[in-house]
Amino acid sequence: MDQLAGVFVANHSSFIQIEKMSNVFGKSALQSIIPVDLFLFLISNDLNFKTMNLKTNLVLFLILISVIFTSAQEVFKNKDLTITKLEKNMWVVETTDKTTMYLIEGTEKALLIDTGTKCEKLDEVIRKITQKPLYVVITHAHGDHDGNIGYFEEIYLHAADTVLLGKTYKGKVHFVKDGDVFDLGGKKIEVSHMPAHTPGSIVLLDRKAGTCYSGDAFGSGQVWLQLRPYAPMKTYIESCKKMENLMDVGITKIYCGHYPYVKKAYDKAYITEMRTLAEALVSGTAPEAKPHPQKVSIGSENPMMVTLGGATIVYDPEHLK
Ligand SMILES: [Zn+2]
Repeated sequence: MDQLAGVFVANHSSFIQIEKMSNVFGKSALQSIIPVDLFLFLISNDLNFKTMNLKTNLVLFLILISVIFTSAQEVFKNKDLTITKLEKNMWVVETTDKTTMYLIEGTEKALLIDTGTKCEKLDEVIRKITQKPLYVVITHAHGDHDGNIGYFEEIYLHAADTVLLGKTYKGKVHFVKDGDVFDLGGKKIEVSHMPAHTPGSIVLLDRKAGTCYSGDAFGSGQVWLQLRPYAPMKTYIESCKKMENLMDVGITKIYCGHYPYVKKAYDKAYITEMRTLAEALVSGTAPEAKPHPQKVSIGSENPMMVTLGGATIVYDPEHLK
């Protein structure tokens, strides 16, 4: 292969790299990090030897920048947690004990979903990401979701979970109900009641973005229904149906309450698998169940677990119906 042919091959692979980068970031996103003149130069069909060499070097440089650009999505880290920007105006907070918070920012206000188990000075940490007035909403009153509410003066919660809240919180508790909306300015977050995991479990919907933040309502691969106060399996089936209906009218992705385990958003198929499995449990046609290895203080003495595809239900056999 002579030198010119070598440069031609390198130049050709450069175009492939530009193409790949366009696919990863979207053409407009790529154009936004590259000046227009440079972008036009890179995609031009100039076969001059020197320009082709220059192009190859430029593309290698841009690939390096793009690697830095993607890894820079992690915006904060300390001993308790890591904050990563997942989408425009939306961050996931992953704690070292694998709990999850989500932070959403509008033009006027911001909203924090859940607070994790134990994160030192969580209020100050959140302030590093947004300085806007902050709503703190708890998807349900389990310790790994409301553990740090003490850092905030007010929280929002479904009234049916008051029984689980405990008496140590000194701030103001606002109750939310199905259909309530938090207006953040250019972004509206709607409450939808999805009981079963707890009586007051809620999910939060960003209908415009097609996003649902589900807490533990549908688990994170494994839904825990073996906890007191027990809900009948039909309550869970109803919540699954309600979620499936929401996914028929615009919700496309579900960010669960323990994101570090799954590192992705669920789609409708996950909820359908959960409902199918719950229905099979009630009708006695589910796959064979086995004992669940983990017993928790607020849970069944003899928890069982059953799996279908990507869905697992942990339940108390005494409280199926
Ligand atoms: Zn929970």
